[in-house]
Amino acid sequence: MPSQDPSAPVPADPSGGSAPSDRVRVRRLPERGAYDRETVDAILREGLLCHVAFAIDGQPYVIPMTYALIDGRLILHGSKASRLLRTLASGVSACLSVTLLDGLVLARSGFHHSMNFRSVVAFGRARPIEGDEKRRALDDLVEFLIPGRTEHARGPDERELRATEVLVFEIEEASAKVRAGPPGDEPEDLALPIWAGVIPLTQVPGAPEPDEFVPADVPCPDYVSRYRRPTA
Ligand SMILES: Cc1cc2nc3c(=O)[nH]c(=O)nc-3n(C[C@H](O)[C@H](O)[C@H](O)COP(=O)(O)OP(=O)(O)OC[C@H]3O[C@@H](n4cnc5c(N)ncnc54)[C@H](O)[C@@H]3O)c2cc1C
Repeated sequence: MPSQDPSAPVPADPSGGSAPSDRVRVRRLPERGAYDRETVDAILREGLLCHVAFAIDGQPYVIPMTYALIDGRLILHGSKASRLLRTLASGVSACLSVTLLDGLVLARSGFHHSMNFRSVVAFGRARPIEGDEKRRALDDLVEFLIPGRTEHARGPDERELRATEVLVFEIEEASAKVRAGPPGDEPEDLALPIWAGVIPLTQVPGAPEPDEFVPADVPCPDYVSRYRRPTA
């Protein structure tokens, strides 16, 4: 979980600290930026949904997608017929973002209202994978989203594999930005008789809802009834 100190910098780059490039350097409140894979991957491991941006003929698109972080690489998938997948598979330069929303920050002034968050912006290109690597990546994707599920779910057949594009998005460089802790009010506002603080927001799964075809003697697996994110 984020620290309670809003001004606390995230850990410095443990890989040796090469300066971030202009493309990923956080400009506003740079002390909230981090560029090491440990910080970036911790956020990517917790997320479920990314937004992928790319341009076609100068027109930018931002499309929501499922992803998995496997061995430091991002796995994306979708229909071979999808323009999104066809475009990404062609190797265009792309930008992928994941945001975890941790809370609403209520300051005494409207100006200092904020959000607590952990977010990643990653730049890179995707490439299609085939054969055993593709089959494994699809299993890994299911397992990333719902640990324990691949043991029970039927794997893809040849027709499903042919219809599905699976891409590896290699991260060329990435930044993380983290805001945590209480509001940063002006000192002269602190004496005002106004409630201020944080409304924490977390992902909380609801009660599982079996569909109508689940036989009565098939119990709800633990990995469903106890689902949570982050998973560890
Ligand atoms: C939570 C979530 C997870 C998803 N995971 C995947 C995934 O893993 N793989 C995958 O292929 N697709 C996924 N989708 C669907 C994805 O967002 C696209 O809708 C889908 O890829 C359709 O692509 P397309 O080539 O038909 O559309 P495109 O040709 O890419 O889009 C055409 C136009 O349709 C509109 N559009 C497309 N998608 C959306 C959208 N989601 N919301 C609003 N408008 C839209 C936009 O205006 C876009 O310019 C996911 C969507 C959500 C919300």
